[in-house]
Parts: sequence; C-alpha cells; structure tokens
Amino acid sequence: MISTTRLQSLLARERDAFAARNPRSGAAYAAADHLFGRVPMTWMNKTAGAHPLYLDRARGAHVWDLDGHEYVDLCLGDTGAMAGHSPAPTVAAVQRRYAELGGATAMLPTEDAAWVGAELARRFGLPYWSFSLTATDANRWAIRLVRAITGRPKILVNSYCYHGSVDESLIVVGSDGEAASREGNVGAPCDVTLTSRVAEYNDLERLERELAHGDVAAVLMEPALTNIGIVLPEPGYLEGVRELTRRHGTLLINDETHTFSAGPGGATAAWGLEPDVLTIGKALAGGIPCGAYGLSEQLAAEIARHTELDLVDMGGVGGTLAGNPISVAAMRATLEEVLTDEAFEGMTALATRFADGVRGIVEQHGLPWSIQQLGARAEYRFASPAPRNGGESAAAHQPELDDYLHVYLANRGILLTPFHAMALMSPATTAADVDRHHEVFAAAVGELVA
Ligand code: PMP
Repeated sequence: MISTTRLQSLLARERDAFAARNPRSGAAYAAADHLFGRVPMTWMNKTAGAHPLYLDRARGAHVWDLDGHEYVDLCLGDTGAMAGHSPAPTVAAVQRRYAELGGATAMLPTEDAAWVGAELARRFGLPYWSFSLTATDANRWAIRLVRAITGRPKILVNSYCYHGSVDESLIVVGSDGEAASREGNVGAPCDVTLTSRVAEYNDLERLERELAHGDVAAVLMEPALTNIGIVLPEPGYLEGVRELTRRHGTLLINDETHTFSAGPGGATAAWGLEPDVLTIGKALAGGIPCGAYGLSEQLAAEIARHTELDLVDMGGVGGTLAGNPISVAAMRATLEEVLTDEAFEGMTALATRFADGVRGIVEQHGLPWSIQQLGARAEYRFASPAPRNGGESAAAHQPELDDYLHVYLANRGILLTPFHAMALMSPATTAADVDRHHEVFAAAVGELVA
C-alpha cells in the first residue's frame, strides 16, 4: 500500500531539504579531515541525511544544532540522557565534585559510592554493586565472573540482541536455524560458537536444548529486547528462563541498560525477576559515563570463596577510572533527585500518550505497523502483529522507510534515535513535545500514503 517510487521520491526530497537546512553541520562534517569516517565515533555516520547534525547545546528534553534549529529530543542519547539533558541536581553535583572539591580520579573512594550501592540494591533487589564506566564493561566483567564461578566456557544470548561490543554476544540464529556470527562482526577473536550459544527470544524450547549441553555459564539477556525494536516477553517466558537456568546450573544476567525504562528498578523490579547478576549503564549518571553490575547474595558469597581469583590487581575485572568520584556523584544526584520513583510515573504516562497517538495515526491509515511500549520508552515497527523475537524483527526492517521518517521528523524539529524508531521520555519531556511529534508523524505518513 506504500508505493516504493513514492517513498523514494519523498526520501530524496527530504534529504535535499536536510542538506539545504543544515549548512553549518554540513561544513563541520566536511572539515573533519582527521577524524576516521569524519566523526568522533564511526557509529555517528548512522544518519538518515548526508551527515550528522552537530550539537550546539541541550537542556531538558530539547537540543539545538549548529544551524540554530531547536528539536524535541526523543532520542535522549539512546538512553544516556533519559534523565533529560543536564538536569540541575546532576550539574550541581558534578560541579561541586570537579570544581569545588576537586578530584576527578584519585584512586580513592568517595562516600557517594556507598549511597549509590544502597540505592541500586533498594531498586533492583541485588545486594552488592560494583562500578564501571560503560554498560559494555559491566557486561564484560560480569561474564568473567560467571565463567570463573561456574567453570563453564559459554554465554547464551538472544538472537539480534545488543549488549555493547561484547564478543560473546555477536551471534544470531542463522537462516538454517544454526548459530552463526552476526553479519559484519569486526575481528572476532575466534569462531563465536566456541564462546557462545544463541536462542531466539520467547523460545523456551530452544533455550532448553542449548542449556542441556551443560556448558553455558550464564544467559545474558535484556528482559525485553530493545535493540531490534521492542520485543516484549510472552506470558510465562521470563519465568521459564529462570526455571531452566536454575535447573541447568546456569546463571542469569539481566542487562537493564535500556529496560531501565520499565520503572525505577527496571524490568527486574517491575516484573519481579530474580537474576544472579544485573548490569546497567548509560542513564544512571545523567549523561556522565557510568556503569554498574549487581550481584546476588549467593553469587557474591561464591565469588568470595574463590580466593584464587585476582579481583584486585591484574585479574581482568576493573578499570582505573571505574567508580570515579564524578561518576558516582552524578549517579547519586541523578538517582536521588531526577530519575525518582515519581518521575517514572510521569515518563510512563507520556510514553503511553506517545504510543496511543502513533497507534491512532497508523490505524487511521490502515498501515501494517505496530507500536510497543516499555515504561518510558515506545517504538514503532513496520510489521503487524509485533514481532515476537529478534529474527522476526530483523526481517521486518525497512531501511528506506526508517530513513524517510527520521529525516522528515528531523527537518521539522523532532529527533528519534538513529538506530531505532524509538522515543524515550525524560522527566523534562512534556505532553506538548509528544503532541508535536504526532503532528509531524501524521504529516509524514499522510504524504506517504497519499
Ligand atoms: N546493553 C544494552 C542493552 C545496550 O542497549 C547497550 C547500548 N545500546 C549497551 C549494553 C552498551 O552500552 P555502552 O555502549 O554505553 O557501553
């Protein structure tokens, strides 16, 4: 019902408009001769226009680019800015720690860390916490610990998951049903099937078959997939994962980096889950680099019994700037005063408003699309009914349609996450921000099906 030629001509029109509208961003990109790929990090080339927009400034749920345009930011740094950009309490805490007290990194702990550990224990239910600077590193260190404790070599993940640049996670269920390296995997240290097993999300039968080999140290998973659209658990799935992992002596790591949107204690608290390890990063410190992993009582006790493990020096768990005073001061302020229990209520209500509005527009045009919500996050996908696993969701990807909506929205002051048709709500996001998205989204869809 959407004509490909119409889509392509609209996309070309919007890309031309993007180039005309953003001369300063274009010039900044053209001038970056000594950046590999012309960007600070190569993923910044994931953009629906010919170049990224350059950031001038940001505050709350809005950003401004170099050409002076203001945007409603529904991307929020792909969750890093879920607290809103530069929330005042976090600004004050960082300023105090860095400028007044001094000490960005001194190899000495600060008292804020214990407060943050206790707050994470209250929220997520795991009693012991350790810090990193990224969610990726939290996952890497968690993987080392579970291997050490179980003596098993493999990690099982869901097909089309994302857990950062973690070697073990770059595995999919191939078209023949067998495990295969994820397409484009850069410089795998070995065949990924030596280190990993894989099952589709929502597939307990496959999970059981894989765990029966007895060589899986841990299942590393997002409680709901959020990096291939949002894929929600079917009734009984997460209970089944816990039951099977326990039965097969496999530990369970919940990666809550994105599913934190489900509530103040992530999906783990919202759905009463009982992981052995919980990893998180991105949003906790209001945009300042941070990461953390929490350990269950039992696992922490087992690790402590393994006195041969070097957890202090060169054993492979830790980073010099992990748990640094700025990072933990920012986490404390953000958790204590910004991403509070009450804030999540407002954020979730706005995400519901977002999802309802998009659903209405999609239904009005009879489009075969779906929208899923996970607390403060919602995402549309060009498939209906909503995909039930990563493989189905990957197959539903339509890059031109995705680009069209992203660039159309950007040209009218709305930012979606580049890798998703995802919208995230911060405590600073307003109903007017959401309604502005709907107005532009309705126009984009209207032109497409006209
Ligand atoms: N885990 C999940 C679930 C993620 O979505 C991401 C990033 N999108 C990461 C881990 C890695 O986060 P970072 O790049 O900040 O290390």
